[in-house]
Amino acid sequence: MDLKKYIEAGKIGKEAREYGAELIKENVSYYEVAEKVEKYIIDAGAFPSFPVNLSRNNIAAHYTPVKGDNMYFRRGDVIKLDLGAHVDGYISDTALTVEVGTNKWENLIDATREALNNAIKTLRPGITVSEIGRVIEDTIKSSGYNPIYNLTGHGLARYDLHHRISIPNYDDGSVTRIEPPMAFAIEPFATDGRGYVKNGKGGNIYMFIRTENLKGFYLDIFKKFRTLPFAARWCADNPDYIAILGKGVKMGMLHHFPILKEKKKFMVAQTEHTFVMTGDEVIVTTR
Ligand code: MN
Ligand code: MN
Repeated sequence: MDLKKYIEAGKIGKEAREYGAELIKENVSYYEVAEKVEKYIIDAGAFPSFPVNLSRNNIAAHYTPVKGDNMYFRRGDVIKLDLGAHVDGYISDTALTVEVGTNKWENLIDATREALNNAIKTLRPGITVSEIGRVIEDTIKSSGYNPIYNLTGHGLARYDLHHRISIPNYDDGSVTRIEPPMAFAIEPFATDGRGYVKNGKGGNIYMFIRTENLKGFYLDIFKKFRTLPFAARWCADNPDYIAILGKGVKMGMLHHFPILKEKKKFMVAQTEHTFVMTGDEVIVTTR
């Protein structure tokens, strides 16, 4: 556990989140925001832990724009901005929700923020993940919404964005405990829907799932991104990148993340922080 690097990654993630939230405005493009926020992270001396996710309305997660993307933020959109920085593989992962130009979904967004704050208050070494989930679920339900039952927080390790444990957004009865030293992310999602997301089409985010005998283009990009998720547009130096990424998926070398979405008429909000538990101390690295 390299605490200094986790703290640096958290600080840069927090600043990038605040910068990104300011950029999300009516008629601004997804591409512009993603590229600017990723550049901000690199200029600060880190690398993105994963592509900047900009997920709209019923989409909960895993959309990042492509090169030449023609999506623009529109008045009334509810955008989950989810991003992270890594310093030498030590990760931060943080998110907030921005409503573009209106205040219709303020209570939904607040429910996720309060759920996370209440979870933070109960955190202590040895806490079970189901106790965290219960606090999140109770807070979100008391606001009249449902948590998303099939999305979770997760453990973090070097170059590993989902390490060992999952932290549910409800009491799933799990007796898994968080014991120091441990880095992890908690990410309450709330919705006016039933609280289940399904896979949609690919959201332009890829990750290596097999790393033996890599050659050529695959070896080049593996050296850059290791086992962390990366964006198709980050590979655009190669004119054939779309075909090559597609082939990598067919060969079982790459995973292409599907977007995760609630039913179309429902809205989804999210708030997320990264934590490091050391001894009896719990540090929120992205606050
Ligand atoms: Mn995240
Ligand atoms: Mn996360």
